[in-house]
Amino acid sequence: MAYIQLKNIKFTYPDMLTPALKDVSLDIERGQFVVLFGPSGCGKSTLLKLLKKDIQPHGIFEGECSFNGVSVKDRNDSNGEIGFVFQDPENQVVADEVLHELVFGLENIGLPTSEMRNRVAEMVHFIGAESLLTRKTHELSGGQKQQLNLASILLMQPNVLLLDEPTAQLDPVSAREFLDMLVRLNEEFGMTIIMAEHRLEEVMTVADKVVMMEKGSILAAGKPEDVIREL
Ligand code: ADP
Ligand code: ADP
Repeated sequence: MAYIQLKNIKFTYPDMLTPALKDVSLDIERGQFVVLFGPSGCGKSTLLKLLKKDIQPHGIFEGECSFNGVSVKDRNDSNGEIGFVFQDPENQVVADEVLHELVFGLENIGLPTSEMRNRVAEMVHFIGAESLLTRKTHELSGGQKQQLNLASILLMQPNVLLLDEPTAQLDPVSAREFLDMLVRLNEEFGMTIIMAEHRLEEVMTVADKVVMMEKGSILAAGKPEDVIREL
């Protein structure tokens, strides 16, 4: 059985006539870097949200969606096992100091201070963000905020990372740096990554597997070069 399995998913938002997703089936293996690709409104965000129990949208859901053999319906997702990075870097920052932002989630789960220090030091080194540690969050650029969001989520040591067009609001250089970091996470740590993206050139350079969507359905899924050939 695939690590993440979606079977015949249909999802309709309340009061909507047409479903946002219809008959979506997809297998994702552990360690894959998967990009959901397609125009705005095709259902990428909805699909990502259905995978994370604590941000699931309201609506009528049919089908089966499981992680590691456990149905999403039955899982407790407040333990950070699945991380989610949103499009807008601003809305996700909660603390005034960068360091507080980083340790916020860890404090909530009651991690001992020494362990917290170790994790933060390693993470800051990985991200290359030593110089940000003493800054205020409101002073950071959009790219730096998004880096910080990613770091805060990674500190919770998720098994899967979901990202909804995380670079859409970044300048091209910051966007490239952010994507490079995702590639390193995937290659060096085997992190399973599922990212929504509507820009083709971004997709081609990072994905192991591209899922091409249109109007709530999957048109094609496979290696980037194979899927692109079908365009
Ligand atoms: P994408 O992420 O690819 O832009 P979405 O998953 O956001 O697509 O949207 C899929 C469809 O569902 C679109 O038609 C969108 O208008 C609709 N939709 C998204 N969110 C809601 C909502 N909260 N209520 C009603 N319809 C929604
Ligand atoms: P999208 O741009 O993916 O369509 P929206 O901005 O319309 O998403 O938000 C849809 C829902 O997703 C919100 O009602 C909220 O519950 C959740 N959400 C979006 N952004 C965030 C965030 N930064 N933090 C927490 N929840 C969020």
